[in-house]
Amino acid sequence: MQQDHFITAMDKNNQVRVILARTTELVGVASIRHNTSATAAAALGRVITAALIMASDLKNEKDMLTIRVDGNGPAGPIIASADAKGNARAFISNPQNDVPSVYPGKLAVGELVGKDGFLEVLKDLGMKQPFIGRVELVSGEIAEDLANYYLKSEQTPSLVALGVMVSPDLKIISAGGLLVQAMPGADDQILEQIEKNVTEMGLISKAIEQASRLDQVLHQVMMGIEYNIIGEKPLFFKCTCSYERLKNILCTMSTEELSKMYDDQNQIEVVCNFCNEVYHYSLEDLQKNKKP
Ligand SMILES: [Zn+2]
Repeated sequence: MQQDHFITAMDKNNQVRVILARTTELVGVASIRHNTSATAAAALGRVITAALIMASDLKNEKDMLTIRVDGNGPAGPIIASADAKGNARAFISNPQNDVPSVYPGKLAVGELVGKDGFLEVLKDLGMKQPFIGRVELVSGEIAEDLANYYLKSEQTPSLVALGVMVSPDLKIISAGGLLVQAMPGADDQILEQIEKNVTEMGLISKAIEQASRLDQVLHQVMMGIEYNIIGEKPLFFKCTCSYERLKNILCTMSTEELSKMYDDQNQIEVVCNFCNEVYHYSLEDLQKNKKP
């Protein structure tokens, strides 16, 4: 299979838009960085895939989209951010927590996430105030919750599928997602055909695992419909943190606050929540940059 990427397609009359993403590699990186349990890997992978799919609508390079899911379940809040360039990062509060599968082979993501809470979408488009949309969770399974978000918050009926397949030794076998949205006044027949195709295709993670190319999965989704591919983009796990960036944050803190953070080696250790990268700063490092 090729590297992670997504494909955007439209039927020939431009009535229905389809975004199909393969995120196997980047979900693998996220699961290793956060040392997740099997179900936590699936939950994290679905949220990060959802963020990448939603972020594909961002217009400018610096725009950022963040999804926050908090269902009051054992996973705790899950946050994923993605930009218009196809980079994403993610965070899960309790990566080691797990719940038993209800059906063999089906991870109980909804149980782990919980459904007593909200899905929030925050779009930072470089304006003074970011856009924030918020809906109550339906099931905590993420795909259903995202479809509900599109319907309630953006008045766009959507078909959403998200899936992550995890091996018994916690490797990510496949991951990906699908978003189908109809333009206002679209022909119902096209949508019905796509729904039928998606049902016949079965789990999105399985379809991605079995296909050698992502456009073969797209072909299954669009079976019987004439369509054009209108865009393709590679996707990556990439955090926005850096040594300099975190140093700048530390430098905004008072000397008193900083003094409490030094360890016995006179170093401050900072761990990025989103990628678990560890940074070390000495008193000297910070004093050099301390703003007057
Ligand atoms: Zn980071």
